[in-house]
Amino acid sequence: SVPDEAVIVIDIRTIPNLRHAELRAELERQLGVDVELETLLEMKKTELNKSILAAQTDALTGLYNRSGYDTRLREAFLRCKHQGEQLCLMMLDLDKFKEINDTHGHQYGDEYLKKMANAMRASVREHVDHACRIGGDEFAIILYSDLTIAKRAAGKILGLFENRCSIGIARMREAESVEKLVGRADAALYEAKHQGRGRFVTDEVQEARAKAV
Ligand code: GH3
Ligand code: MG
Repeated sequence: SVPDEAVIVIDIRTIPNLRHAELRAELERQLGVDVELETLLEMKKTELNKSILAAQTDALTGLYNRSGYDTRLREAFLRCKHQGEQLCLMMLDLDKFKEINDTHGHQYGDEYLKKMANAMRASVREHVDHACRIGGDEFAIILYSDLTIAKRAAGKILGLFENRCSIGIARMREAESVEKLVGRADAALYEAKHQGRGRFVTDEVQEARAKAV
């Protein structure tokens, strides 16, 4: 039998070629206690998934952070490429946020960021699209949808957030890299800022311009 507080380390690599049941039997024999190997493995898996999710979550807003965004974007890109699904990328940036911080203080600014996150969450499909905070006042949304639905979501965010942010939207094109998609969403955001802020711009503008040349 095993004393209550004993720590036992078994290197399972020293037990060659054992299948699950045999491994459990061997562990039980060595430990002298019942070992539910599947239960242990499940617990470890749940623990691991929880810490992965925590590492990919922004503490202030609860949205995906930069690392979560990178992972979800690459995953979405591959899924859409191989399954032929629709994908849109939305880049969002608060307007004149520095002034808000300077006028009302950093704590007020933090609440403002949370409000933005809530407006984003309320405007996309839970468990389908991914809302992320990728920098200080920069956000992104990965949408499994066409441009029409993405535009509707952007309009809803602007409504809920009283037009106090700018948004760029790009639709993934066939056989393009993820960097190209990000570049077009960034360019559309830049255009929205340039046009006077508090609005969304899509990459249709760039498409039309390219055709005109
Ligand atoms: P623009 O309309 O051109 O985007 O102007 P802006 O003032 O929003 O842009 P800028 O990038 O100059 O300012 C971003 C500000 O975001 C600056 C920084 O102090 C603030 N910021 C970044 N992270 C946080 C945060 O976690 N909390 C708060 N309260 N402020 C933050
Ligand atoms: Mg800003």
